[in-house]
Parts: sequence; C-alpha cells; structure tokens
Amino acid sequence: MLIDINRKEGRLNFLDINFKKYDYVIIGTGPSGTVLIDSLLKKKKKLLVIERGNFQKKKYESVISKKIKIKKKSKTFAVGGTSLDWSQIYSYLDQVELSDRSKLSKKNNTWPFNYSELIKYYKTLDKKFKFDFKKLKNINLDLPFLLRKFVAPIKPCNFGKLLNYDKIDLLVNCKVNTIDNKYNNVQLYLHNRNFRKVITVKNLIICNGGIESTSLILRSIKDKKLQGLKNKNIVGKFFMDHPKSYAGVIKYPKNDIIEKISLKKTRNQISYYGLSLTKNEQYKKNLLNTYLRFEKTSLKSQNIVDPFFKSIKYLFNYFKLNNSKINTDGNPYNIRVFFEMLPSIKNSIKIDKSNRININLNYSRTEIKTYNILIKKVYRFFSNEYKKENIKLLNKKNVLNLKDASHHMGGLIYPSIVDQNLKFRGLRGIYCCASSIFPTSGSVNPTYTTCALALRLGKYLN
Ligand SMILES: Cc1cc2nc3c(=O)[nH]c(=O)nc-3n(C[C@H](O)[C@H](O)[C@H](O)COP(=O)(O)OP(=O)(O)OC[C@H]3O[C@@H](n4cnc5c(N)ncnc54)[C@H](O)[C@@H]3O)c2cc1C
Repeated sequence: MLIDINRKEGRLNFLDINFKKYDYVIIGTGPSGTVLIDSLLKKKKKLLVIERGNFQKKKYESVISKKIKIKKKSKTFAVGGTSLDWSQIYSYLDQVELSDRSKLSKKNNTWPFNYSELIKYYKTLDKKFKFDFKKLKNINLDLPFLLRKFVAPIKPCNFGKLLNYDKIDLLVNCKVNTIDNKYNNVQLYLHNRNFRKVITVKNLIICNGGIESTSLILRSIKDKKLQGLKNKNIVGKFFMDHPKSYAGVIKYPKNDIIEKISLKKTRNQISYYGLSLTKNEQYKKNLLNTYLRFEKTSLKSQNIVDPFFKSIKYLFNYFKLNNSKINTDGNPYNIRVFFEMLPSIKNSIKIDKSNRININLNYSRTEIKTYNILIKKVYRFFSNEYKKENIKLLNKKNVLNLKDASHHMGGLIYPSIVDQNLKFRGLRGIYCCASSIFPTSGSVNPTYTTCALALRLGKYLN
C-alpha cells in the first residue's frame, strides 16, 4: 500500500495502521534500503518503508561545510534516493582499504567482516541492481602499481523503480525527524509540513544515506533521546569523502599501455582500470590507496559519463591553444584522482543551534603526500618525456581545489557506534545500513559496498 502523507486520504489511511504488526520499519528507499527490502521480502517479512521524498520531484538540501565543500546536489530526497542522480561506477574495496593506516596496527582489519566474506556478498549482488562485475575481465599487465577495475552501466539503475509496492507499505512525503528507544520499542517522530505524529514500532533500520543517517542520530541526541546509546561522543566523528581532483594532462603518453587501462565507453558500459601505489609502498611509507584514472581528451561522447568532463574539455582546449608542442602521436590523457581519506576525529558532522547540518572536512598530510608520490610515479612510468611534463603537485595553497565526490562515509562508525550486526550499541532493535558505518573510506565508490552490507544485514535479520 502507498500512503502519501501530503494527501488527506493518505493521512486517513495512516490513522488505521497498526504499526506493531511490522517486523521491520526501514527509513530510506535508496540503494541500501532497496537491497535490504528485497532481501527481507524473500522471507516474507512484514515491512513498512518511510521516505521523506516522493515519486514526482527530486529535492535537495544544502549543508554548511568548511574546507572541502559538500555539494548541494550530493544527496537526493525522492523515492530511489540519490540513485536518481548517480553514475553507478563500482568496484571492489581492496583488502588494504579495510585497515586503518593511521594506526600502528595498520595491517588489522577494522571492518565487521573479513575480506573473503565481503567478496562473497559483492558476488551475490543481483544483476537486477545492474551490478554485473564479471563483465569486465581482469588484465595482467605487470605494472608497478595496484590495478583495480571499475565498471558502470551506461544507464545507471534507478532503485526507485525496483521496489515491489504490492509487498510493502510505503509512506512517502514523510520525514523521520528524530527517534527514541523506550520500553523495548522504537519511537519515530514523524515530521511534515502539516503533520506531526509519533509512532511506536518493534525494529528500525536506518538507510538514510551517509550524511542523513548520522544527522538523524545527532538530532535525536540533541533532543535528549536515545539515552542508552553508547559512545555518544563519537557520533558524527570520522566523517570521510573521496575528494576528487583533476591532476593535469600527460602530454607525452606511452599510448600502448595507457590505451589498455584508460576510460572506455561501449554501447552498454563504461569501464576503466584505476591505479594506486602498491600495497608494499602503502604499508612501508604509511600511505593511502588513492587512485587515478586516465581519460582520453578527445572522447567527446564521454561528457555523458560525468559533467566534470565539460570542465576538463574546456581546460584542454585552453591548453591546446597555449601549447603547440603537444604530442601528435596520440591524444594526451587527462588524469583524474580520487582520494582515500584517513579516518580522522577532526572531520565531523554536527547539528548546529538552528538544526542545520554542519560538516568539517579537511585533508591531512598523508592524503597530500600519497597524491604527490602517486602522481610523480605515474608520470615517471607512463610518460615518454618525463622532464617536459607539467606535473601539478599539491601543496597547502592549491589543495582547496579538491572537490566533494558525493561519497559520504563515517559518522556512525563500526565498532564504536554499531556492532558487527550493524545494531546500535546500547540500543534495542535499531540498526544502521549506510556508508556512515564505514570505519575506513577506501577510495572506491561506496554504494556497491553499502549494498553488500544490506545483503549481509538482510541475511542476519532473516
Ligand atoms: C552525482 C552523483 C554521482 C554519484 N556516482 C556514484 C557512483 O558512480 N558510484 C557510487 O557508488 N556512488 C555514487 N554516488 C553516491 C551514491 O549515490 C550514494 O552512495 C548512494 O545513493 C547511497 O545509497 P543509500 O541508499 O545509502 O542513500 P541514498 O541514496 O541517499 O538514499 C537515502 C534515502 O533516504 C531518504 N531519507 C533521508 N533522510 C530521511 C529521513 N529523515 N526520513 C525519511 N527519509 C529519509 C532519502 O530521501 C533517500 O531516499 C553518486 C552520487 C551523486 C550525487
């Protein structure tokens, strides 16, 4: 049943619901919520899904952000969540990314499962969700880099179209403002223009996305709710992103090798191989798994992949006019870098006095050092004329050009805030399935991993 809280009829239907009949209430209809719902329906669980958006219109809300700015359009409120705006590029997290490299025990896994379990869930993710990783073959190139494949369907999946509304009850235009945990039940404080209600349910799973899951808990704590929650002082801390940067052009490329790994577009898919420093280099020098990809500058059609290409094209045209010595054997390649961030207690989400979300996200020395070492190594290896290249390294001044990649992680990290089954520590019947629980960011797009977490949680709850 679909219940639209903005309609009178929807509000009347709402009054008839016995909320205790649901096995689980899920907030959010983005990729995490959808995969979880799909999994729970296999065991015929009774589900109520609550979504602040609707089917008709996408809504956005800006947050206040310092240093690395968070884009207003980096989270979408609608049925289907941010999958209505995304590119669906995905890959496996590397094993090295499961460890926190800011710590001395850097080889220790800080995630709630081991790597082989994660791979098992990636592999089980259904083609229904347009994750079909087998499509792209591994290549053996013997490069002095860690090589990782990335794929994306040309038409990304809109998760809002995958929900089976006959089998669930869905409340739309209904924001959950705060939650509480009393008398062994969960209370949800619903909030809409003309509608404020409190409902009591047995179990709740928060699938609100990276920023909104954390802000729901922060708002509740601010309202003196969730008294039993453990480690409250850590909520909102260790926020992470994958800041992205255009690293310049490789003018004299070794075309034969780069061609094999650069970004390509076919009728159905986009693919490329990302390059990072080797695991040994990362462990030895305390560096991160930041990766880069090569993009041929001439591929006009690739504008579709990412609006960022438009600015690259502009830069390239400018560059062409100003540099007549450009290599004519082949096209120069743009280099785009996606950073891994260290989990830092200084990077945080807060709720300010006017209830606005405030994000403080800053880079660390390790992130800059990793970038500079990686870039120099890449030019050395992939350029025919290393000395003639214009290598752009990062320093304190130009580092602010780093952009939000709309990949928001941390804030409710495992193991401080949730346990290995994603249940909040100290609370009863409240779980979180969002990138907020990531204890490390890795550098790979996060949704494939969040969906793997949803499958794992579904299996546990079933
Ligand atoms: C332009 C762009 C490109 C991207 N490209 C990629 C990519 O290539 N690969 C990748 O892996 N990721 C990409 N992402 C990120 C990806 O979209 C998110 O990681 C993913 O959508 C997260 O899924 P989710 O279900 O956890 O959250 P979301 O998709 O954000 O869904 C959360 C849902 O919860 C609802 N909600 C939130 N708060 C409340 C509340 N209080 N009450 C009720 N409902 C609520 C929202 O309306 C929304 O429907 C991209 C993002 C953007 C903006």
